[in-house]
Amino acid sequence: MTISAPQYIQDIAPYQGGKPITELAREMNLRVEDIVKLASNENPLGISPKADFAIQEALLEVAHYPDGNCFELRDAVSKKFAVAANQIVFGNGSNDILELAARAFLTKDCETIYSQHAFAVYPLVTQSTGAQGVVVPAKQFGHDLDAMLAAITPRTKIIFIANPNNPTGTLIGKEQLYRFLQQVPSHVLVVLDEAYDEYLPAEHKSEAISWLSEFDHLLISRTFSKAYGLAGLRVGFALCHSQVADMMNRVRQPFNVNSIAQVAAIASLADGDFVERSYALNQAGMMQLKQGFDHLGLEYIHSYANFISVKVGNAAEINRQLLQNGVIVRPVANYEMPEYLRVSVGLFSENEKFLTVLGQVLEKTVMTS
Ligand SMILES: *Cc1c(COP(=O)(O)O)cnc(C)c1O
Repeated sequence: MTISAPQYIQDIAPYQGGKPITELAREMNLRVEDIVKLASNENPLGISPKADFAIQEALLEVAHYPDGNCFELRDAVSKKFAVAANQIVFGNGSNDILELAARAFLTKDCETIYSQHAFAVYPLVTQSTGAQGVVVPAKQFGHDLDAMLAAITPRTKIIFIANPNNPTGTLIGKEQLYRFLQQVPSHVLVVLDEAYDEYLPAEHKSEAISWLSEFDHLLISRTFSKAYGLAGLRVGFALCHSQVADMMNRVRQPFNVNSIAQVAAIASLADGDFVERSYALNQAGMMQLKQGFDHLGLEYIHSYANFISVKVGNAAEINRQLLQNGVIVRPVANYEMPEYLRVSVGLFSENEKFLTVLGQVLEKTVMTS
């Protein structure tokens, strides 16, 4: 083929998602119902019953285009988070938000900054514009904010921070984050990705939305994919300065959030009970996994999200054997963590099956090595 993409596009390593259950079933000749997937930080409770109802109704209307401005969802988000309607941008998942920020503000002469072990989409959206990503070494798997400040140059345009971070689950404290924002020059947009905020206990929940009036260069990204369980529908949003929102809306596809996703998101926002149940299940499941790891003598990184990264040694080999036994988790070698596996917190029975199979696999691996 003689059609060539620019070098910076050719250099992009494609994103690798969690292996779908149906794919493993085909590969290993397993039954779908015998497979446990704890690989994509999905909500094991599914979705809110209210969202379910709204989806059924909206299915009757799919012949129509969605509302390109998400009027009703915008109103719901505006009220819930006490931000003006023109400070909200909706995305086809929050990955879309990350990409809109990159497309609106980056040129190939710009730099972005993100941490080692940070979410894989930051380098992807950076590289797709031809800009240069600057990786700052992590400190005990978490963000080293002082080093990130020191990495800022006149070319820096965006700093990406996930809080909590995926795949490490580490959290930056509120005071630290606030001081950081005070020190970032006003020409640099800080994209604060809070995909897992709903999983934080009350004392750790983000207060960044209340900082928006103070920091014009702050963008907060949220998603319906995690605690709200709507990963398959793809809807997320940004809260930011109205002029930042305006620029992002100019590069946004006019109908980037579909009609089913819009009504499901509205219904989900109104179902605090479902989020509470999801939070409680996650707390219990996290405890179960940590106790299981302690029992197996495994180290792990303390996590504030709905997943945990555990140190298993030869993670590629352990992962291969877990797959053979119908357990899908996430190897994180591409995050420079070749000895770790990232495990999403599932239902009690799913966590149990994972821990049992992991124990068997580890025992076998020790005996044969
Ligand atoms: C899962 C995740 C998201 C959410 O992506 P969506 O596109 O909203 O599904 C965003 N940021 C981080 C850090 C994540 O782990």
